[in-house]
Amino acid sequence: MLLKSFRLEIVNNHCIPGAMSVNGIARLDQDVGCVIPYLNTALGGSQYVKDPPAVTFKTEGRLISVQPDRITVNAVKDREQALKIVEWIRREINETWDNRDEIRPSYKSPKKPVVIEILKYLPKTNCRECREPTCLVFALRLAEGAKSMDACPYLEGESKTALETYLSEFIFDD
Ligand code: SF4
Repeated sequence: MLLKSFRLEIVNNHCIPGAMSVNGIARLDQDVGCVIPYLNTALGGSQYVKDPPAVTFKTEGRLISVQPDRITVNAVKDREQALKIVEWIRREINETWDNRDEIRPSYKSPKKPVVIEILKYLPKTNCRECREPTCLVFALRLAEGAKSMDACPYLEGESKTALETYLSEFIFDD
């Protein structure tokens, strides 16, 4: 078992007056730096930093970050919720480490779709029916995962299929 124990600290959001959530910082008693690239592959990190290693995941509107000596979780209701999330990550860390021979480590953040590539498939009439001011802005929203292709009623046939295939290469955040 790589990660055996930690001490959980709860930090209030002093910089956000009236904030209803707190942050949790688990100080790890074992160094987990070696598992971070494997965890990046196993859980699909939304951001990876190589040196010092760190991976961040986005789930249910909060960020969970794993560094060699700590796990941080933001926007949690209370200590109980922070503990539940850290325990979940601890299980994932240990399971990933046990199965590391089967996992190819990843030292990269996921690629994002290229806006100009998306634009190629759009009608480029700037008709605004998608409720965006231009096709370019609509392409930006698609690249962010903030909009669905279905919002453009003029996207159809081969263009729609090709764009669907292109976007299927990427993992979008929640
Ligand atoms: S509805 Fe389609 S064609 Fe019209 S502005 Fe939006 S993306 Fe462009």
